[in-house]
Amino acid sequence: MYRMRLWSVRHARGLNQLYRALETVLAMLQPLLRRLGPGDPLPILPGHVSPGRFERVLRAGAFAVTAELAPPDSADPEEVYARARIFDGYVDAINATDGSGANCHMSSMGVCSLLTRVGYAPIMQISCRDRNRIGIQGDILGASAMGVCNVLCLTGDGVQAGDHPQAKPVFDLDSVSLLSLARTLRDEQRFQSGRKLSKAPRVFLGAAENPSALPHEWRAMRLIKKIEAGAQFIQTQYCYDMPLLRSFLQKLEELGAANRIFLLIGVGPLRSAKAAEWMRQNVPGIHIPDALITRLRGAADPAREGRNICIELIQEVHAMKGVHGVHVMAYRQEESVAEVIDKSGVLAGRVPWYPGRDRQDPAQSNTADTNTADRVAS
Ligand SMILES: Cc1cc2nc3c(=O)[nH]c(=O)nc-3n(C[C@H](O)[C@H](O)[C@H](O)COP(=O)(O)OP(=O)(O)OC[C@H]3O[C@@H](n4cnc5c(N)ncnc54)[C@H](O)[C@@H]3O)c2cc1C
Repeated sequence: MYRMRLWSVRHARGLNQLYRALETVLAMLQPLLRRLGPGDPLPILPGHVSPGRFERVLRAGAFAVTAELAPPDSADPEEVYARARIFDGYVDAINATDGSGANCHMSSMGVCSLLTRVGYAPIMQISCRDRNRIGIQGDILGASAMGVCNVLCLTGDGVQAGDHPQAKPVFDLDSVSLLSLARTLRDEQRFQSGRKLSKAPRVFLGAAENPSALPHEWRAMRLIKKIEAGAQFIQTQYCYDMPLLRSFLQKLEELGAANRIFLLIGVGPLRSAKAAEWMRQNVPGIHIPDALITRLRGAADPAREGRNICIELIQEVHAMKGVHGVHVMAYRQEESVAEVIDKSGVLAGRVPWYPGRDRQDPAQSNTADTNTADRVAS
């Protein structure tokens, strides 16, 4: 240490001159470095609204895969990275939930900002339960500045569902008015108040839908309202009832909505017959057919059977017209996402980009480079 200090004192004048010479070059490179930073991960392609890989994959016509990351009960960034790494090579974007079930966890914006730092493509979920339009507009700008390119607009679970039932619910907006507000920020480059932004957030906008919720005939109409308010992609609640999903898709087709939206169907492995029955009784709008519960009950290894069912559902959904991908929600079974996606074969040899993919295994990047959707998205 002492020798280093001595050396730097002796060479102080030289080091100072070197720094001064480099300072000019660094200053000249600043705009470029800033462009390569989290604010602008990729150039925006013609006809796209965001610079993100998720939009690129969908618009290139690939079957997209997204997965839900449960934010930790922690302030440790490494816990977020560990939860994201589990999906490496199998998903195109990672959803960070926003106080899902009205329970308190690390914020969606915090998780997404950490993920963009290392190059993941996060989808920031915003629920209207906890923040009013002043807070939400600020969050969308802040997230976009951190490189977040996708926002999922949700009404959100009510406070009575979670671990702080005494909390004051806000619901200044709902999913439809939130979509319209986010679109105004992006397309009109202004706050809802009319005040101008010097730079608009370049975000791809999504919403949720539940094809199984009652009354079934209203679901497609609710979706149209979300499309008209600005939704460009939809991620659905878990779909276990395929005939119900088919009739929802049919209704979308009849209403002329099928070509106006990218639709990702929600799937997830059921751990046991008991877990499936609990979900059916306690999560509003989830319909799990008796046949699936009987199959789980009769299985020697119910968790394995649950993953097999999930693989079959993904394959069935993949073959449906009007479906553009799957959204895997595997709460507390996140490690199974790679297996169900791999065995379903829906990626067809494509390896979605993840931080370090090309560095770690050149063979993988070669495979990916043969695929158009992945080439544009890398
Ligand atoms: C993919 C996905 C991710 C989600 N992530 C989150 C999250 O991060 N944080 C969070 O708090 N919540 C989350 N939810 C839950 C969701 O916000 C609630 O289920 C909410 O009631 C519906 O939200 P929405 O934006 O789809 O509702 P909207 O379509 O805007 O519906 C608004 C109103 O319709 C009624 N409604 C909608 N669906 C049903 C139903 N099935 N049964 C009865 N009434 C209904 C409710 O009264 C609700 O207030 C998620 C849901 C899905 C499908």
